[in-house]
Amino acid sequence: MSSTKHVVLITGANRGIGKEIARQLAGKDWQVIVAARDHSKAVQTAQEIGSDSFGLQFDVQDEKSIQKAAILVEEKFKRLDVLVNNAAIGDDDNILKVELERIMQVLDTNLMGSIRTSKYFLPLLKKSDDARIINISSDLGSWTTLKNGGYGAYRLSKVGLNAFTIMMASELERTNVKVFSMSPGWVRTDMGGKNAPRSVEKGAETAVWLATESKVVSGNFYKDKKVIDW
Ligand code: NAP
Repeated sequence: MSSTKHVVLITGANRGIGKEIARQLAGKDWQVIVAARDHSKAVQTAQEIGSDSFGLQFDVQDEKSIQKAAILVEEKFKRLDVLVNNAAIGDDDNILKVELERIMQVLDTNLMGSIRTSKYFLPLLKKSDDARIINISSDLGSWTTLKNGGYGAYRLSKVGLNAFTIMMASELERTNVKVFSMSPGWVRTDMGGKNAPRSVEKGAETAVWLATESKVVSGNFYKDKKVIDW
């Protein structure tokens, strides 16, 4: 049976900003799919969030697991309105310091993971009247901050993700699928650390707004519900 509610899938939703986006959208009566690479964490988080949330296992680095998950979502919910590419890993080192293998791992998770997930869920998104892909980027992925140093592999992954947003938005211009990048700001999570100034509630706010607001323009980079420079 097709879900009568709006359906959102959030990757890396077992903790941090992803979990908070899931919690806020469940509070707006959305059907939430909590995706996590560990099945038991996906199920446990979905139970915590309640409102019929569904725990789904896939690893954004594992193409087969994404393919299987996309089939399952189509069979179970028959629709997907919003995909939030949130799963990511960090790295603090300057680009010339960080090991090549680590660069590959960060790019594979943050950039390729979002590309893989988008590709497999796009056919289902295209069936929605008003679909959105929300790529969780970062201020560190803005061209305007690249000379500031640090976070080399992470910055590359988020610059790539922003480029993916622009290219996808352009290719999907005449369809019902909007594509956005957004920065949550510096947020108190495992990745952001305890000294970050923002709460997870604030970090999740713009993603929730991009999922639900009608007057948002595809192909833009948003922070605090405003368009910012790439
Ligand atoms: P977090 O607390 O470290 O959570 C990261 C999430 O990504 C976890 O659920 C983790 O799952 C998941 N993940 C990592 N690799 C994965 C994989 N291969 N497959 C599936 N899931 C995977 O991070 P966060 O602070 O909430 O960050 C969420 C998003 O916001 C990220 O895109 C991040 O780059 C962005 N962001 C964060 C900040 C900040 O200050 N926190 C600032 C700017 C942008 P496991 O639990 O299994 O590891």
